[in-house]
Amino acid sequence: MITNSLSGENVDSTCIEIRSFQIRLLKIIIGLAIAGIALVWGSHASILDNCINYIAYPSLMVLMLASIVILCFWQNGYNLAASISVGGFAVYYAIYLQAAIYGYEPFENNDYIDVFAQCFPLVYIIIFIFLQRHQAIVASILIYTSLLLPFLLKFAFGLNLASNDNILPVLVQMVFSHPIYIAALLWISFMEKSLIRARVQVDSLKIIANFDYLTGIANRRAINEILQQSFTKAKNINTKVVVILLDIDHFKQVNDKYGHQTGDRVLIEISNVLKNGISSKCSLGRWGGEEFLIVMNEVTLQDGVNLADNLCRCISQHSYLPVNRVTASFGIAISQSCDTIESLTKRADIALYQAKIKGRDRVEVAV
Ligand code: GH3
Ligand code: MG
Ligand code: MG
Repeated sequence: MITNSLSGENVDSTCIEIRSFQIRLLKIIIGLAIAGIALVWGSHASILDNCINYIAYPSLMVLMLASIVILCFWQNGYNLAASISVGGFAVYYAIYLQAAIYGYEPFENNDYIDVFAQCFPLVYIIIFIFLQRHQAIVASILIYTSLLLPFLLKFAFGLNLASNDNILPVLVQMVFSHPIYIAALLWISFMEKSLIRARVQVDSLKIIANFDYLTGIANRRAINEILQQSFTKAKNINTKVVVILLDIDHFKQVNDKYGHQTGDRVLIEISNVLKNGISSKCSLGRWGGEEFLIVMNEVTLQDGVNLADNLCRCISQHSYLPVNRVTASFGIAISQSCDTIESLTKRADIALYQAKIKGRDRVEVAV
């Protein structure tokens, strides 16, 4: 029912949507990482001459493969897979960062430091996309501390850092720019919650605007809009729209005899009978208190009559305990070239009135 969609369920379903997006994205990124590692490793076997790569390449390959297996075969394994793959990737970069700071291989000269510094913010971005917020905060603080601490020690105790003069300015730039990246990502991650809440509110308002609160089917505004669209489309492609208007018989007596709540339950039951009885080509809406409208596209009048006859029978045969028997009367009209939606529904209404005066529980077609 509509009330459920206005509660926390919508927030949950939005979170599930985000999680399934994260899973798909992580699979793609891990797939690319595995392909990248395999490609570089396969084409430059000498890459393992570097002592970091010697350990890191095989380790990363194992971690990425393990993560992809977890993601594919364990439904709740996202957090573990993300921690393993993103954690491994971050540790790899953090170790390279130390090599840069202390001027170890491959940063003995200026060759790699620029590319390395430019790529490094990607680590924070990946951390914030895939890890939980508290994990991302801890991981990025640890990485930043490993960048900042050697500089503090250098100033406090004269610790020796990279001797290459070109590397130090780049590292100093990183020291000043990284807090900005981390703060921006943190801000975005806090904003995410507000965005989810805003999206849920928009979805809820759409539901309120288009669906009937009691029965959960389209309300008058929505079914009128559907009718308008069907009508325009039918005119363009030269087909017909059939409308079926139905009204529950002696419904006031149901309310009077069994109470309003029972009356509400009957309305819900009847809307379910109608929902189950129509095909995907038809649209159903609550036209008024105990009146419903069905819109049929690209059908003949006979299709409409058959459907209405069937629904009339289903309604009268359905059980509505404690109410003994409930029936409805039906009026059908098919669009003519000169029709507007008002004239079409008016003719259906006149046919419905005919059904009422002819004894109810029956179907009448507009002339
Ligand atoms: P007829 O066979 O001529 O259609 O008789 P009727 O009693 O169905 O017609 P009438 O228009 O006199 O009464 C319609 C009743 O439907 C009156 C109103 O209280 C009731 N009704 C309209 N909306 C709701 C609703 O949401 N819940 C309930 N329980 N009753 C409703
Ligand atoms: Mg009525
Ligand atoms: Mg009625």
